[in-house]
Amino acid sequence: AAQVAAEVPADNHSAFVRAQAAIPGGVNSPVRAYGSVGGDPRFLARAAGPYVYDVAGREYVDLVCSWGPALLGHAHPEVVAAVQEAAARGLSFGAPTVAEVELAEEIRRRVPAAERVRLVSTGTEATMTAIRLARGVTGRSVIVKFAGNYHGHVDALLAEAGSGVATLAMPGTAGVTEASAAETLVLPYNDLAAVEQAFTERGTQIAAVIVEASPANMGVVPPQPGFNEGLRRITREHGALLILDEVLTGFRVGPSGWWGLENEQVRAEGGEGYTPDLFTFGKVVGGGMPVAALGGPAAIMDQLAPSGPVYQAGTLSGNPVAVASGLATLRLADESVYAHVDAVADTLATAVGHALDAEGVQHTVQRAGSLFSVFFGPFAAASGVRDYAQAQAQETFRYRAFFHAMLEAGVNLPPSVFEAWFVSAAHDDEALARIVEALPAGARAAAAA
Ligand code: PMP
Repeated sequence: AAQVAAEVPADNHSAFVRAQAAIPGGVNSPVRAYGSVGGDPRFLARAAGPYVYDVAGREYVDLVCSWGPALLGHAHPEVVAAVQEAAARGLSFGAPTVAEVELAEEIRRRVPAAERVRLVSTGTEATMTAIRLARGVTGRSVIVKFAGNYHGHVDALLAEAGSGVATLAMPGTAGVTEASAAETLVLPYNDLAAVEQAFTERGTQIAAVIVEASPANMGVVPPQPGFNEGLRRITREHGALLILDEVLTGFRVGPSGWWGLENEQVRAEGGEGYTPDLFTFGKVVGGGMPVAALGGPAAIMDQLAPSGPVYQAGTLSGNPVAVASGLATLRLADESVYAHVDAVADTLATAVGHALDAEGVQHTVQRAGSLFSVFFGPFAAASGVRDYAQAQAQETFRYRAFFHAMLEAGVNLPPSVFEAWFVSAAHDDEALARIVEALPAGARAAAAA
């Protein structure tokens, strides 16, 4: 497979050389490395609206959006002003603030089942706390997760994980003990029969099922109709909790996340809908600053310290500057923002499909609300991708070529085929036109790979 590597500006290359001497692999999160596409990661100097700028001053239309948080686009003036005002009042107090209450209330307004909300700093902390809480309230130890789902770098949740673990094709990770791995049961995604069987065999040991509301860390692989509801039914029958991980989808695919979107559709079709026991949020909830959260009914959430026996804490939890960013972002994220990102996703997903078709590249574009990604190869084209095994079987080498041709043309895509593409409210006609203009070159490179 031919590799089309974009030319790396000299300033960028020296930054990467220097970084590798000071930071493992030169990056502070593996997904930022160009591990599966090859080449030097772009070192960014600033960002505004739909654009990012590298250290050499090159401008790219951005389809990473900080891996989700930048729903409004980069450096939205009102969000930046809120952050500056909060910073001037003090960076961190280690005492409660009213703004934290306002953020918790805003989350509850959007997702009423999150009666109580605890703020943390990262999605990893949110899922880590959710499984500790589930174990605490059930007195059970086993956690069920799905292959290709990613929930952050929690020991118990790294088995067959998506995102960077998928990109690096790591079977597992060193440093996770056998004892920890033994308490995680990994099942194929979208397979309710496998879940039924696991509960038949080990139902009394299972504390919780954790699932991405609509997975987007093995590429975008939405739940089959009835899958999430089925998980709700089975967990309830066996006294286990259902944790819906909306770190990526929450407040991005709609005002109430994937849960809101899916339930609206289920109810429109005469169904009852479902509500998990716990939700985890991150990314958009901080608008680009470190805020994440978990929420659920008072009866469960009040088991957290100091009201309950399950300990959880954080020096920077609910940090006032970070909370100001999240609150400003959610307050600006109205229906028009969601309508816009949906329309942008429509336009782009269609344009990508047309460009690849024009070059005879077999593929499928899968969508979940405003999230989408491309899978390459005849199987994906013929049947679509429903689980991790199918996602892994695609022609990843085509994405490598596609990625570099797009980068060369000034479009910043996620540097892995296993990640979703993120759009924002700032992606206007001009930004879209630039992406659409770049697509034929991307498609030709994918075809030649
Ligand atoms: N859950 C999901 C669904 C995610 O996509 C991510 C991050 N991509 C996480 C949890 C972990 O969040 P963080 O990187 O903030 O720890």
